[in-house]
Amino acid sequence: MGPEARIDLAALRHNLRVAHHAAPASRLIAVIKANAYGHGMQRVARALEQADAFGVARVEEGVQLREAGVGKPLLVLEGCFGPEELALAACHDLQLVVAEPEQLALLAKARLQRPVHCWLKVDTGMHRLGIPLQRAAAAFVALGAAPAVADDLRLMTHLACADTPADAATEAQLRRFNPLVKAFGVETSIANSAGILAWPDSHGDWNRPGIMLYGSSPMAGGVPDDHGLRPVMTLSTRLIAVRHLQQGDAVGYGGSWRCPEAMRVGVAAIGYGDGYPRHAPSGTPVLINGQRAALVGRVSMDMITVDLRKIDDAEVGNPVVLWGEGLPADEIARAAATIAYELFCGVTQRVRFRETNG
Ligand SMILES: *Cc1c(COP(=O)(O)O)cnc(C)c1O
Repeated sequence: MGPEARIDLAALRHNLRVAHHAAPASRLIAVIKANAYGHGMQRVARALEQADAFGVARVEEGVQLREAGVGKPLLVLEGCFGPEELALAACHDLQLVVAEPEQLALLAKARLQRPVHCWLKVDTGMHRLGIPLQRAAAAFVALGAAPAVADDLRLMTHLACADTPADAATEAQLRRFNPLVKAFGVETSIANSAGILAWPDSHGDWNRPGIMLYGSSPMAGGVPDDHGLRPVMTLSTRLIAVRHLQQGDAVGYGGSWRCPEAMRVGVAAIGYGDGYPRHAPSGTPVLINGQRAALVGRVSMDMITVDLRKIDDAEVGNPVVLWGEGLPADEIARAAATIAYELFCGVTQRVRFRETNG
């Protein structure tokens, strides 16, 4: 009766095609960091044989993929820290982002059996990782001269506000980046999912889709249908109790919600111990037998309670969908004041994963 995350690999492949069609001239680095946003890194890597490369955040994730037999180019988005990680990266043929002076210094003095492929990351305005714009040219020259760095050095940057089409920050970032591209004439990568779907000028030689592959809209306020994306993860469970309560009865911890009338309340076997957000408020939708019902009262560790007033035929054992097919995770994320990325990443070990192909 416990919760299940069904992973639809056909939807995943469909979403990769959406990324391709939105930017047909660009190659795709499918971003599968953080266990493929909670979907299972190896499972997703196996399913996306059409991707040109994979992106992970850390060297350790790249090593895991190599050990699982993944042979495609692998890009480590945070780069490496210290000589041990650099040796590991070189030995597993991981491509490295170079974003910080420490990383530049490490590569400049390294002696490796074979050079590593590198991406110089420039900070064009996000102010998280990246070499400051004024020092980018010098860094490019220094990296290019390092024997440890392969001679196909590339340039990248990351967009801070691409999820908001009205925000002028994206154009400003592109204006700062483009002169470097002209000056060095190397391959580039700029766009995340939002860049791919909303900012054609950000399409580089390589794009880096993440969230859109999993069927969530990268745009603020968006839903997957806006872009023809299909949900990949459907998180579901079952009703384990149906209670007949009286007007004024308080439901759950703290008694924060009271029945406005005599009514049926269902108990579903999922809670924050499974990754359902504890701060989802009363009114957050769930699907019971395919119909919308509202969460009521506080989310517990193992259970939630739901208003069954509109679902006359609901009974113990009926399926309850928390997000996915028929109920976009984006909508649940907005109700719970977070983003679908966090919902997906938060699904815990206790949830049983099952793969389907459409
Ligand atoms: C995570 C990440 C991405 C993917 O971003 P989405 O918004 O999920 O498409 C792309 N580039 C970098 C550097 C990232 O860290």
